[in-house]
Amino acid sequence: MLRRPNVSPERDPSTLSNYGDFVVHSTRLDLQVDFDKAVVSSAVSFEVTNKTHAHHIVLDSSYLVIHTASINGISTPFEVGERQTLGSKVTIAIPPEIQAPHLTITLQSETTAECTALQFLPAEATDGGVGPYLFSQCQAIHARSLFPCFDTPAVKCPYEMSVTSPYPSVMSGRPLGVSGNVYRFSQPVPIPSYLVAVASGDIQSAPIGPRSSVYCEPLKLAVCQHEFSADMEHFLQAAESLVFKYEWERYDALVLPSSFPYGGMENPNITFVTPTLISGDRENVDVIAHELAHSWSGNLVTNCSWEHFWLNEGWTVYLERRILGKLHGAATRDFSAIIGWTDLENSIAAMGPSAERWSMLVHNLRDGSDPDDAFSTVPYEKGSTLLYHIETLIGQNRFDKFIPHYFHTFRYKSLDTYQFIDCLYGFFPDCKSILDTIDWETWLYKPGMPPVKPDFDTSMVDQCYTLADKWYHHSLRNKLHKFSSADIQFFTANQSVVFLDTLIAFDKLDFKWKHHLDALNTMASVYQEYSKSTNAEVLFRWYVLQVTGHNQEYYAQLGEWLGTVGRMKFVRPGYVLLNKVDRPMALYYFKKYQSRYHAICKSMLSSFRDRLGIERLRGDVSNISSTLSQLRPPQEFFDFRRVSKPANFGEAQGRISYNLGYYSANYVAIVAILSVYALVTNFLLMFVILLVAGGVFGISRLGGNDLVLPFGRFNSSQLYTGLMIVAIPLTFLASPISTMMWLIGSSIVTVGSHATLMEKPIETVFEEEV
Ligand SMILES: [Zn+2]
Repeated sequence: MLRRPNVSPERDPSTLSNYGDFVVHSTRLDLQVDFDKAVVSSAVSFEVTNKTHAHHIVLDSSYLVIHTASINGISTPFEVGERQTLGSKVTIAIPPEIQAPHLTITLQSETTAECTALQFLPAEATDGGVGPYLFSQCQAIHARSLFPCFDTPAVKCPYEMSVTSPYPSVMSGRPLGVSGNVYRFSQPVPIPSYLVAVASGDIQSAPIGPRSSVYCEPLKLAVCQHEFSADMEHFLQAAESLVFKYEWERYDALVLPSSFPYGGMENPNITFVTPTLISGDRENVDVIAHELAHSWSGNLVTNCSWEHFWLNEGWTVYLERRILGKLHGAATRDFSAIIGWTDLENSIAAMGPSAERWSMLVHNLRDGSDPDDAFSTVPYEKGSTLLYHIETLIGQNRFDKFIPHYFHTFRYKSLDTYQFIDCLYGFFPDCKSILDTIDWETWLYKPGMPPVKPDFDTSMVDQCYTLADKWYHHSLRNKLHKFSSADIQFFTANQSVVFLDTLIAFDKLDFKWKHHLDALNTMASVYQEYSKSTNAEVLFRWYVLQVTGHNQEYYAQLGEWLGTVGRMKFVRPGYVLLNKVDRPMALYYFKKYQSRYHAICKSMLSSFRDRLGIERLRGDVSNISSTLSQLRPPQEFFDFRRVSKPANFGEAQGRISYNLGYYSANYVAIVAILSVYALVTNFLLMFVILLVAGGVFGISRLGGNDLVLPFGRFNSSQLYTGLMIVAIPLTFLASPISTMMWLIGSSIVTVGSHATLMEKPIETVFEEEV
């Protein structure tokens, strides 16, 4: 028997709002961008029915300044609650004179520097450098830091939106037109708050299909148009043939500036995508198949809470691979699934002990955890594997009839896992015994890898391994004439990645490429396309292989190439490798291109200083300023582009010792904040400390004289004894040891995990042992 809640869909534990009391019919959202202050102000109106006659409306907010609130035009007092992990409650009392169930709730607010939904980029960090740039990312629970709302995927409604900005702007709706610098949009399909999106900057668009355009900085427009135009409409049609007609009218893509290392986001009507997708060979556009599939799974049919996130992502990965299968054959679909399976194994292994908490399909967030903590490969790969498994059990032809049925049943709605399972059993009444063979308990609630590994078609991955093996054996036996360009003629870019990764991995075993330079040269002459590749993933591995084998010809090529890419993913390991084989050359190229790597960081630093006026503080309070000057700014301390899992224990040790020195002031500040927190949450301990300190101070002020009170006379030692009699039992009651243990534990966890996960800056490559 499947464990399940009494009522479906389950209540979303990641919202502080009382959304269950209302039906939300529509939302109007008007945004105004102030690039100078780096804030967005908003006016938002919700049309709702008060279905439970609630006396209050409670909305989500996070780091917002709320100016006004009104209900049906009557200005209403409101209260912003204390901040917790999930943000701050905004409670608005419904005036007793309003009896009608229909309410129009209007709020005006403004974002702050802490806003987690917005990224403001200075002009220098864009590709064209023409002006500043803004973009939002509201999933999972960041919409509440852009405007107050019922911030839950369980609430969906149509939106009317606008943004006022000095630069061209897009939002996640159908464009209605521009008047002056006001850009208006309509989203008639009901969407949840996490799909509200805005971007503004030097953006232009070009068509990439009959119902699609690409938006990006003018500089890259032609390249982006070339990248997408061949596949976009094919993807749309393949997806429509699997599910049903695309309902959102237009499907556009916004390519963000190069300095953005994040992935894509399926904002309706306009997917936001990472610029690394633009490879020049159209080999990475698979990402678009994924974001497009979200138009059905996630955007039309939505998880009711982040506990059931796999319904969004598992279904999307499943559809993405089915689209690829339709366009390139079943082997391509399975090749992608095999890579996904390996990713899942790696990511569960990387979780360590926390896999117990975060590697199940259905999460439990009822303790108020931030849903971002639950984010991993698991909902994507474990979820799609479950659907693959069901498809295999039922048979693809029959399962294909279930796909449109499921999306029709739940479109415009939000559901939980149990509703999905009911829908499945309901659609296949004759397959109950087959479906009952699925170990639902393990699939849904147990951590670790899926209980069943589907029988994937391994033909494409086998080709990569076989060819790599052939190179291994023939290099050892000097039979290099056995290779030709035909070997890789039909390889996809992803197959080349797997092939080259396998060759590089040999070097970590007993085989050393530097003893087989002739093999590397032969490979370069028979596989000439690798040197000419425009796909960064392929080219980087090609350079790594050649440089690992000490093929000097490639040292300068790698050095030059490192000057053209901005991603830490390539830059850092690239310099590490070059430094290992030719330190002067590594230093030469690093000095040549250094300014490019630091441009973003520098501009962030200077804007941060201006904003906080640290220079001024320094003049005023020399003590504070010397400490502050040691403090690394938050942009650097929380630079998520530099967060990664250390490859091994040695790297972790290296990072910890570097970061403990470099960020020492920040870590001291964290421990100080934790100490204050420990004291504030242990009132009794704080009271005892204040009592003893006050008592000792008071007694010392007596200067050895007796204290004369109306009821007696006390000398110093009597007073000290009295103080001890009161303080000692209170100290025991305040359990200082457990507070101390908590403080030590939480400090070690916080500081330790930051120091382990934060990569050292690139220049430290040159300080390390060669
Ligand atoms: Zn996705």
